[in-house]
Amino acid sequence: MINPKAILALRERELTRFVNANPKSKHYFERSNGWFQRVPFHWMLDWPSPFPIVAASATGATLTSLDGQTFDDFCLGDTASMFGHSPSALASALAEQAGKGLSYMLPTIEGAELGNMLASMFGLPHWQVTTTASEANRAVIRWCRGLTGRSKILIFNGCYHGAVDDVFVDLRDGLAVNRPSLIGQVQDLLLTTVAIEFNDVAALESALRNGDIACVLAEPVMTNIGMIRDAPGYLETLRRLCSETGTLLVFDETHTISSGYGGHSNSHGPMPDIMVIGKSIGGGVPCAVYGFTAQISARMEALNKARPAGHSGIGTTLSANALAMSAMHAMLGQVITRKAYDHMLAMADRLVSGLRQVIEAHGLPWHVSHVGARVEFVCAVQPPRNGNEARAAMDHDLESAIHLYLTNRGILLAPFHNMMLLSPVTQSEQVDRLLHALDSCVGELLEIKA
Ligand code: PMP
Repeated sequence: MINPKAILALRERELTRFVNANPKSKHYFERSNGWFQRVPFHWMLDWPSPFPIVAASATGATLTSLDGQTFDDFCLGDTASMFGHSPSALASALAEQAGKGLSYMLPTIEGAELGNMLASMFGLPHWQVTTTASEANRAVIRWCRGLTGRSKILIFNGCYHGAVDDVFVDLRDGLAVNRPSLIGQVQDLLLTTVAIEFNDVAALESALRNGDIACVLAEPVMTNIGMIRDAPGYLETLRRLCSETGTLLVFDETHTISSGYGGHSNSHGPMPDIMVIGKSIGGGVPCAVYGFTAQISARMEALNKARPAGHSGIGTTLSANALAMSAMHAMLGQVITRKAYDHMLAMADRLVSGLRQVIEAHGLPWHVSHVGARVEFVCAVQPPRNGNEARAAMDHDLESAIHLYLTNRGILLAPFHNMMLLSPVTQSEQVDRLLHALDSCVGELLEIKA
């Protein structure tokens, strides 16, 4: 076991090293008074360092800081740049579109093709575009309630689907509570959101058999609270129970697009009624999509005809703007390819076996969780089966000490848990450097006699 005092000692030492290595980033941070808390977006303070690295540029799977350090990037913008930073096909498409107008609220030629490209890649015939995955999820929840006439939705404890009020319900000691960290939440979400544990068939069956749930909104593998795998047969049971009870099944594939070509639904099954994909679909340009079956599409059309004229509450002005459409067209046509996945999955296998070797060599009570090109090492012996177990497995002090150590050696991990993404342009040397740095970190942690 790693001594908690060793974790603190290592963290102290690495903090000093970070500050000394990043004087320009520090300077920039200190004079950024125009921003609330000195950053334009508060998530930028979630890194384990006392101030964030200022990014100068990034290409492929490498990021360069203002202080001139290069980083092997396994965070990749928390999935937004999962297919590499600025792939050349995307950069050219954006440059070309930039000279032709950015937002017209009219369809474009690329857009006409893109709908069909989405249909053939993800196996659902009809699609709509939004500006973020959060917004897509909000739109989908609204549609599901409209289509079913039911007010409740069901989500899994520990889920994250973006800034979507409806999903911020947790189970604490088995009881549903409004997530206490939300700012300015004035509605009681418990009235319309049912939360159960992932992989709990009995709870799922009893919730859905009431017949009052409009949709289940889920990631097919939970990726926002460590990584929680579906138990064998669980997703098929979920699919069957939704169909039997008239509940719509929505898979939010914003992260699990990393599972394989066509996302988790197409590479592992089963298919949902509605699929949401954000972040990487535009390679970092803000956009997201949701797709649905022909049957849902017919019901949506009927609902549209039946409702009075006026605001639908769905969509925002910049949805499907020309720049976003060009970005997705380039990404789907030239970057998010089967060949890209072949490389990503091979790199993931290399990382997974290397991580297992590090864990074994040091006799650590850890394990590796992995689906497709998304890998996570978890500082606990047993793979968690649900949100409650995943929460209990997290060791914030240890994780942030490791992240900081790795940052100081030129390795970037997403600041949330220990998620690592492998892109189509990640090199095997980058994977090996990560493994070597982690091995040294653990070795030092075990050696420090604090
Ligand atoms: N769905 C999932 C599964 C996510 O992980 C996230 C963000 N981490 C979102 C939706 C929201 O994406 P965005 O912040 O781009 O709206």
